[in-house]
Amino acid sequence: MRVSRLMLVTLRDDPAEAEIPSHKLLLRAGYIRRVGSGIYAYLPLLWRVLQKISAIVREELNATGALETLLPQLQPAELWQRSGRWAGYTAGEGIMFHLEDRQGRELGLGPTHEEVITALAGDLLRSYRQLPVNLYQIQTKFRDEIRPRFGLMRGREFIMKDAYSFHADEACLKQTYAAMDQAYRRIFSRCGLRAVAVEADSGAIGGSASQEFMVTAEAGEDLILASGDGRYAANQERAVSLPADAAPLPGGARAGGHGDDLATPAQSAIEVLCSAHGFDPSQTVKVLLLLARFEDGCQQPLLVSLRGDQQLNEVKLANAVSARCSAEHGTLLDISPLTAEAAAKEGLAPIPFGFMGPHLEDAVLVGARSWQPRFLRLADATATALESFVCGANSLDTHRVGASWGALCPAPESLDLRAAQPGDRCWHDPEQQLQASRGIEVGHIFQLGRKYSAALEATFTNEAGQEEPLWMGCYGIGVSRLAQAAVEQHHDANGICWPTAIAPYEVIVVIANVADAPQLELGEQLYGAFQAAGIDVLLDDRGERAGVKFKDADLLGIPWRVVVGRGAADGQVELVQRASGERSDVPAAEVLSQLQAHLERERAGLLSA
Ligand code: ATP
Ligand code: MG
Repeated sequence: MRVSRLMLVTLRDDPAEAEIPSHKLLLRAGYIRRVGSGIYAYLPLLWRVLQKISAIVREELNATGALETLLPQLQPAELWQRSGRWAGYTAGEGIMFHLEDRQGRELGLGPTHEEVITALAGDLLRSYRQLPVNLYQIQTKFRDEIRPRFGLMRGREFIMKDAYSFHADEACLKQTYAAMDQAYRRIFSRCGLRAVAVEADSGAIGGSASQEFMVTAEAGEDLILASGDGRYAANQERAVSLPADAAPLPGGARAGGHGDDLATPAQSAIEVLCSAHGFDPSQTVKVLLLLARFEDGCQQPLLVSLRGDQQLNEVKLANAVSARCSAEHGTLLDISPLTAEAAAKEGLAPIPFGFMGPHLEDAVLVGARSWQPRFLRLADATATALESFVCGANSLDTHRVGASWGALCPAPESLDLRAAQPGDRCWHDPEQQLQASRGIEVGHIFQLGRKYSAALEATFTNEAGQEEPLWMGCYGIGVSRLAQAAVEQHHDANGICWPTAIAPYEVIVVIANVADAPQLELGEQLYGAFQAAGIDVLLDDRGERAGVKFKDADLLGIPWRVVVGRGAADGQVELVQRASGERSDVPAAEVLSQLQAHLERERAGLLSA
């Protein structure tokens, strides 16, 4: 391809809309253009990158025996109603774009394809003899993200590879899950990415085990917690750890475990309370009031007790609340703080916010207009493990010192609701500490089990002749996010440094001065020779100054550059490696074979990685 024909428009300055390096560079180098919030045009250069990534994905998945298919993006609401996900995906913080057709039938634009594929599998897969099957597609997905940002990282329309496997039993599902894990590692390494596998929360997709693949990068939205020995790594949403030991409360339980009242004027914040009275935050129990909203309209107040030095993990809380309420009230739509204003709107008497203890009675909810009249009471295990503690007295400007569970109020159900933190000790080895790093989630694999097949009645006849629901796995890769993640990991001050395997072109031939006949002639000749040798080559044949063309070549990030300049008359060119900046003078007659050797080495290196 000739740069003069590429409609290349590069930008000298960082566009105001971009915050992170990869987003800035993709815009500046003419790979993408923003069309609307979270909506991007993939320009021809990026489309080549996406095609190369897709080709690697196809090769590796085909090698596992998976079959490529293409499913509709317009999906009838009825399928999602049967799986029970329609309300959760369309109401509240739901991310599915949905619409009505001319007959008034509701449809959704596919954010994911479990429903469609499970219905098909139920139709087509009748006997254990047909199993296992693994189907995948590479396709545009639609998600009305709450905060689209960072360009292709979190788009509202993006390209995903999604695969779904079907099995006669769990052991077979686990085998395919392991094979996909291996295929994913090969895909990311072949794309030139440093990616790590971490334990993950299964989120709205559901199911049991799940693992994410994270490209490590400062700009990543996810926090990874990992042990130094490499034996444990998890997304913070999911991570577990040993909490720090609590400092015992001097004097222990008081007033038979009811605790003594202590005047604490305006000391509603834990730090203020602790510094005023010499308490350690781990000697306190803090109480959070929240409100969970469900599909059936139910609004359930939550009273969550945590040890004062711990933070709530909202994902763990949402999972715990769903597990307890969803059978009766349907999908959990969202959980938000229960505020004084909301309580007043409900017609409740004032609640002593900032001075609440775990013994706050359900009586405070009496008269609520639309909320359930009872708290769902949950506690983190660090709070229930305290023998005596300091907590709010449920009256303004007062705390209780030396309260204990049982006497004060029954201990709530004890769960893991705390956010693991960097520096925490690890479960598998308390000598190990969790270390934090940031990651971009490029892939996610799940063992779904029979959640969707049971809901959509996708059954098969097993060897014993009985009908049972299919076992399922599902496996995603964010193809367009991956392209940008590669830039996030591979760039420098001058621009992008694409890994060769996914670069739009492998080499750019830059003719320094197209007005110079020997340069033009040699440049064209090399361009033709590279093409004939099957190398993806770009020819910068523009009448621009050489400096401009070199700057653009750096910005575009083509891995190899051949400069045809003054040496052309003597049959000399310069070969430059973009990432390392290494340059060497090479006789034009040898540059093809040298380049081929470099490309060969790069391929071999990646395949053995
Ligand atoms: P996230 O937690 O980042 O919102 P997710 O867990 O909802 O992602 P999955 O349902 O697991 O995403 O989708 C599979 C893959 O698709 C993700 O691993 C990610 O790489 C990619 N992906 C998800 N949402 C987006 C998006 N809005 N824009 C670009 N890629 C996305
Ligand atoms: Mg995910």
